[in-house]
Amino acid sequence: MEFSDKAEKLCENQFKKIQKIEDFNQQKVLKAFIDSEVSESHFGITTGYGYGDRGRDKLDEVFAKIFGAEDALVRANFVSGTHALTTALFGVLRPNDKILSLTGKLYDTMMGVVDSGEVDFGSLKDFHIGFDYIDYDENKEKYYESISAKLSENFKLIYIQRSRGYTLRKSLSVSEIKEIIAFVKGILPECIVMVDNCYGEFVEKMEPSEVGADIVVGSLIKNPGGGIAPTGGYILGRKKYVDMCSYRLTAPGIGKEVGATLGVNRELFMGIFSAPHVVAEALKTASYTSVLFELLGFKVYPKYDDKRCDIVQSLIMGSGDALKAFCQGIQSGSAVDSFVIPEPWDMPGYDSEVIMAAGTFIGGSSIELSADGPMKEPYPVWVQGGTNFYAAKIGILKAAEKILSLRGQ
Ligand SMILES: *Cc1c(COP(=O)(O)O)cnc(C)c1O
Repeated sequence: MEFSDKAEKLCENQFKKIQKIEDFNQQKVLKAFIDSEVSESHFGITTGYGYGDRGRDKLDEVFAKIFGAEDALVRANFVSGTHALTTALFGVLRPNDKILSLTGKLYDTMMGVVDSGEVDFGSLKDFHIGFDYIDYDENKEKYYESISAKLSENFKLIYIQRSRGYTLRKSLSVSEIKEIIAFVKGILPECIVMVDNCYGEFVEKMEPSEVGADIVVGSLIKNPGGGIAPTGGYILGRKKYVDMCSYRLTAPGIGKEVGATLGVNRELFMGIFSAPHVVAEALKTASYTSVLFELLGFKVYPKYDDKRCDIVQSLIMGSGDALKAFCQGIQSGSAVDSFVIPEPWDMPGYDSEVIMAAGTFIGGSSIELSADGPMKEPYPVWVQGGTNFYAAKIGILKAAEKILSLRGQ
């Protein structure tokens, strides 16, 4: 508790900065609701084809306004972030097009979408769509040199992942994304810039769609669902591309005009309305976790007073026992499934055992406090979420308590 008080004290300045961003983003979100004239009638239920679902269309309008985009496709029909990202890639790319990622390999689940290594799997490769990448480099001069060397080839789509995901690279700020887009468009003016915005929404005052990104994609069980949306994802950006993606999600010529919402609209509106506050709670949890574990002697990325560009906090646990203790502590401090004891297991798609903690109201939601890490050197753990700082703090303290008892303290 002594460390905890000290940690909170050290975070005071950071918390003020987080609140400033929350204040700004909450105004932005409320303004979109007011300007779009959201009303009770938009929370109605449609079934069957879902023709004329006013709420569904209104939600698209609200998202487009918040994110400064021409149009949006916000749907509970997206089963995950991976599904929304996949729909976007298949929506706008055609045979013989090529993708260039400027932030290294894509998020784990996306690599099979690009090329599964198997034939007739339905990956982009089966459709003769190519993929190449260069790693993000903090040395700006070197980074821009390697981008311009690559762009002598003609790429149709440039892919940027805002969050570090489960790597230890730095996350990109929106101003860095702006600079990169301007640079790329200077060389390839016709290319489509797509941003994987997962974990990034409302962390800063601006979104990638406000600084030149053509397509921006994310998950509703992360930041923009505010911990309330039960499932779903979004694609937004230039109208032409959003239309193409809607033809992939449903059918060419049908696009956005169908899709029963089954009564989920109210929760999606409530989720985006709460998102700036919930993201601020998650950011406070991340800063607090960072400083507390630094005080306990762990390596942490980012540090509590570093500029944050996503909600993810990583800690280097250094041993399998510490990683297990950490995740079990987080789980034991959750409102749901606190009595469950997570154990490492062989998950498909990973080259070592993985341990995960998620005692969440929404299954697998990572805007709620959750943690996971692979059972291999240096035993990193990624912690994210926390829809309520004071509740999340207990989860983090329980994790710290387990670590201290491992040390016999
Ligand atoms: C979560 C995430 C995704 C998509 O993951 P799903 O689990 O399919 O929702 C993609 N990219 C990044 C950076 C993510 O954090």
